[in-house]
Amino acid sequence: MACRNGPRSAKLIAVSSKETSRQADRDQLQQNLHATIKELRDVKAALDEHSIVAITDPSGKITHINDKFCAISQYSREELIGQDHRIINSRHHPRDFFRDLWTTIRAGKVWHGEIQNRAKDGSHYWVETTIFPFLNDQGEPIQYVAIRTDITKRKANEAAMELIAAELAEKNKELEAIVYTVSHDLRSPLVNVQGFGKQLQRACDTIRNAAAAAGEGGMIPAAQLKQPVEVAIPQALRFINAGVGKMETLLAGLLRYSRLGRVALTIRPLNASGLLAEIIAAMKFQLDEAEAEVHVEPLPVCEADHIQTSQVFANLLDNALKYRDPARPLRVTIRGHVSEGMAVYEVADNGIGIAPEHQAKVFDIFHRLNPEATGGEGLGLTIAQRVLERQKGRIWVESKFGEGSSFFVALPVIDSQSQPC
Ligand code: ADP
Repeated sequence: MACRNGPRSAKLIAVSSKETSRQADRDQLQQNLHATIKELRDVKAALDEHSIVAITDPSGKITHINDKFCAISQYSREELIGQDHRIINSRHHPRDFFRDLWTTIRAGKVWHGEIQNRAKDGSHYWVETTIFPFLNDQGEPIQYVAIRTDITKRKANEAAMELIAAELAEKNKELEAIVYTVSHDLRSPLVNVQGFGKQLQRACDTIRNAAAAAGEGGMIPAAQLKQPVEVAIPQALRFINAGVGKMETLLAGLLRYSRLGRVALTIRPLNASGLLAEIIAAMKFQLDEAEAEVHVEPLPVCEADHIQTSQVFANLLDNALKYRDPARPLRVTIRGHVSEGMAVYEVADNGIGIAPEHQAKVFDIFHRLNPEATGGEGLGLTIAQRVLERQKGRIWVESKFGEGSSFFVALPVIDSQSQPC
């Protein structure tokens, strides 16, 4: 029996041990699968914790998004599933940007980049993005996984830094121009002082030689003293004093200009009509003397520093007086309007006007078109420009030579909530 049943039972034993080992393999596979699924779940949980994740089908339709995506975009899962990413397009990037992105991922390659998106409430946010295409056996994308990190703060910091760098570069250029102008303007009185110093030296030499020739107790002939004492020395002293005076004025102006940046500003609603009325009243004597007519139209309210802005308008009126055309009575019109969040004021005169090639230069430090004709240090408009820039405003000129000039001052317009003081 044993012999007859032997091979069969041996076969059964063999089959059952094979089955057992298959089962063990299956169990092992099952375990591995569970472990892999668990690992994948953990990776997904970690990814969801850190990143903004979206999965789209090959046409770009959103099939999955995580909570972070909903939070940053402010859209609900229901609003996003089935949509494409145009729903969060901020229109910041040119069309080519997204064309390149699609060309890359459709070719089965990974795309990296920084994208500005628009949340539901219209606010913008920046995300550093990696889009990873999942491919089928033919190498065609079957879905895209986009993993993003919120970099809005970093982009804001970068933008602020860029702005500061641009402002610094601008200030540096300005400073270089000032150093150039000042050294150039200081040179001419300095050359005068040096030249007339030598003339003084020569006059002293003449007197010393005449004294030596006369000898101890001798008389110096008056004719020999006449030229140095009556002509050379007084002339040299006159020019030296004028030169020193000019240098002093330049340095005082420079100091005044440099201090502007340190003056504290008090920005508040400014009633420009009232301000102009005050300035005109303070200048009444000079205006009456010049028989000037000043017409002020209703002016918009702006936000500015009262004292500094008052100096700007006083300077513009003073210039209108200084640079009036003697051939006709001075007429000044002050008008204003609001444009793109700025109150724009115009001070228009019928004075001598400024030729086109000089118009931009009138704002340069110490620049004067006709220094001999009128008093002034060529600083008024430079200071006005700086004062206005500090208040987020600006100044420019439009002028016709021989007909008159319009100086425009733009200052931020008042917030509709607050009231003028
Ligand atoms: P300043 O009047 O002391 O010379 P500004 O900076 O105020 O200095 O003006 C610079 C130059 O601009 C003046 O020297 C003058 O040539 C020109 N300018 C300014 N305002 C007027 C104006 N209203 N009409 C004609 N020229 C002007």
